[in-house]
Amino acid sequence: MLIMKSNTADSSLLVGRPCPVCGHSEAAERFRKKSLRIVQCGRCPMIFANPIEKGWADGSYYDQLSGPFFLSQNKLDGDYAKPRFARELRLFRKFCPRGTVIDVGCSTGAFLYQLNVSFPSDYSAIGLDIAGPALDHAESKGTRVLRESYPEATSLADNSAQAVTLWAVMEHLDDPRRFLAKTARVLAQGGYCFILVPNFRSLAVRLLGPKYRYIFPQHVNYFTRETLRHFVSTEPSLRVVYETSMHFNPIVIAQDWRRGGEFVSDQERAQLLKRTTSYKQSPILAPVKLALAGVEAALSLLYLADNSVIVLQKTSR
Ligand SMILES: [Zn+2]
Repeated sequence: MLIMKSNTADSSLLVGRPCPVCGHSEAAERFRKKSLRIVQCGRCPMIFANPIEKGWADGSYYDQLSGPFFLSQNKLDGDYAKPRFARELRLFRKFCPRGTVIDVGCSTGAFLYQLNVSFPSDYSAIGLDIAGPALDHAESKGTRVLRESYPEATSLADNSAQAVTLWAVMEHLDDPRRFLAKTARVLAQGGYCFILVPNFRSLAVRLLGPKYRYIFPQHVNYFTRETLRHFVSTEPSLRVVYETSMHFNPIVIAQDWRRGGEFVSDQERAQLLKRTTSYKQSPILAPVKLALAGVEAALSLLYLADNSVIVLQKTSR
């Protein structure tokens, strides 16, 4: 991991944690990957990292990662390329045609940027994050941002949003239940919540096991379809209206297969994401793209694609 240990003397302290889904305090070790210890809850099937570094638990690492990683040209080019959020946008649009949207963990603001560019007059969008430099970039691209911790954010009124998106956020959180509870409060009646997390039962994880690059210290929660459902059921006012799995990157599988299971640096991950995105835009590779889309569709049906997605709607309960 390329994190700045030099000025984060006490961020590297380890903190223990209960199950992020049911709160149970006992867990059994499943496996280790270098410094990372992955456990399974003693009461429910949730798999999570325990202990974790304080810098990941309190989020301070994300502010520090902001400059060198989120704002690196490779990461920005990859995130701002049109195909990056194409699937998420299509899904989002199906459920939420207009209204106030809060993108939690918006980072450099690429999702909201694409949303505003594609549907300029339909949404009032707010991006929220704790990574300062990433938000500066989002703001420079015209996105309205809030520099607050989401669970405590006082500027978000209850029952005010038609949608809350949490794209690749829940897997990073020490206590994701606080984010879900806040979402249940800020959503208007009938509003939608979109959650995307890595799928711990994906083809990639089944093939690679701990060698998979996304089993790494930044990811502290490893959801399956079952544990994601269990997690969202802890908030009774949110009901599941749609589930799927999406995204498939065979290059990641090929690369990680050859590797000995070391952590892949942020720079290298960003470089590959950018490369994959540019393949998706290349006309020469159109036939390959078509074949891959077929594979992704099949994996998606079998719930074996890289990420799990769940859409929730706020009901009157
Ligand atoms: Zn549990």
